[in-house]
Amino acid sequence: NADVEFPHAEKKTMADHLRKYESLLTLTPQRMRMIVHAIEDTLDNGLRKDGQVVPMIPAFVFGWPTGEEKGDYLALDLGGTNLRVCLVTLLGHGKFEVTQTKYRLTEEQKQDEGQALLDFCAECLDSFIRDTLGRTDEDEKLPLGFTFSYPCSQERIDHGVLIRWTKGFGAPNIEGRDVAAMFKDSLTRLNVPAELTALINDTTGTLIASNYVDPNTKIAVIFGTGCNAAYMETAVSIPKIDKMGLAKDQGMAINCEWGAFDSFDHQHLPRTKYDIIIDESSNKPGEQSFEKMIAGLYLGEIFRLVVCELIDAGDLFLGQNTYKLEKAYAFDTAFLSLMESDVTDELLTVIGVFTHFFGVETTIEERQFFKKLAVLIGTRAARLSACGIAAIVSKKGYLEEGCAVGADGSLYNKYPNFADRVHTALTDIFGEKGKKIVTHHAEDGSGVGSAIIAAMTKARKDSGFY
Ligand code: BGC
Ligand code: MG
Repeated sequence: NADVEFPHAEKKTMADHLRKYESLLTLTPQRMRMIVHAIEDTLDNGLRKDGQVVPMIPAFVFGWPTGEEKGDYLALDLGGTNLRVCLVTLLGHGKFEVTQTKYRLTEEQKQDEGQALLDFCAECLDSFIRDTLGRTDEDEKLPLGFTFSYPCSQERIDHGVLIRWTKGFGAPNIEGRDVAAMFKDSLTRLNVPAELTALINDTTGTLIASNYVDPNTKIAVIFGTGCNAAYMETAVSIPKIDKMGLAKDQGMAINCEWGAFDSFDHQHLPRTKYDIIIDESSNKPGEQSFEKMIAGLYLGEIFRLVVCELIDAGDLFLGQNTYKLEKAYAFDTAFLSLMESDVTDELLTVIGVFTHFFGVETTIEERQFFKKLAVLIGTRAARLSACGIAAIVSKKGYLEEGCAVGADGSLYNKYPNFADRVHTALTDIFGEKGKKIVTHHAEDGSGVGSAIIAAMTKARKDSGFY
């Protein structure tokens, strides 16, 4: 306990504080290796039995694309932040064209009645088809891939029972129900000229889209508002689907839903009191433990909780009005990105963040502290992310030959140094060999990936499989 070290209530300097947060938020290579093993065991359990914490969901995408998939497909993407509608034209040879429109989701919509949320998606799709594409009821209905990026257990590709909402969504009367069936109902009722052919997770889409353009891609990860991974498993290694009678070497994409790692028991992850506050005040206490330490939705809030702790202790902003900082989730993760990118001597961007958005004045020592705190939080997230990747790599034996990992999401794409930190962590875990695991910015999974999956599904049906 840091307080014990300063018994005379001397005012602690920002450097003193920093040392404390460093020790709370730093992950040693040894600690990471322990986490990797625990994740690997958890992934194995999920493949063995239904109903595990990390559900390892068979995604009913059977093997890799050929790269020759062609045609026009609609794609709808309900992610954590936006709703996106696309028309994807696959041209073969790993080539494609995309036309798209984005809609922002309001907080109210995320908590709206489940069917109403899906109706809204269907309405956006309808106006895209009719107004943007100029198609009418006379035209043939286009096949649609729906990227619904929440854990859904599937019995076939156009089916998916929502296990639980994540990322702060809470729309009632949809958990435990088949989202694909509910969405088909919206399409029919609202007379939308589209045919749902596949319900897809963003990671599965990313896996297939990235492999379509680069066949070395074996794993896909999303580090965005939420976090998750998918990879290709062989049927023989998925004991829980024994009954399906697939050929042993049949490929089956697995949506891991690793964000749920260490949920409920909290035995493996080094959670701090800030992580616990976030968890307990969330709409899903106990759940998505791994995700809550990594994903973009939460990193800014971790930062804010530390700042509030120092305000309460009288060590920051004494005599200033700090109410704007005291509002939960007021500190967006984008601010951490901005502060980390600030290379000016005076840390001018950090000044801007605190004066402009929160109305408080900062000293240079405080600004240096804030920037370093952002580095600690961002680095911990990247190192935990690397643990997840390492678990799949080790499980699949990809270390010898190396492999490419397609990565997407706002943290991966916009957070400074995130990818470098993941790579450093991979060498911390595996030694020099870790350098053969290389992440790269993925192809658009929820657009292009979902179109390819729709095409693969159609080809499979046409050839008599289901
Ligand atoms: C969801 C996953 C999704 C991930 C990234 C998580 O909260 O459970 O299904 O892949 O976010 O979007
Ligand atoms: Mg997304």
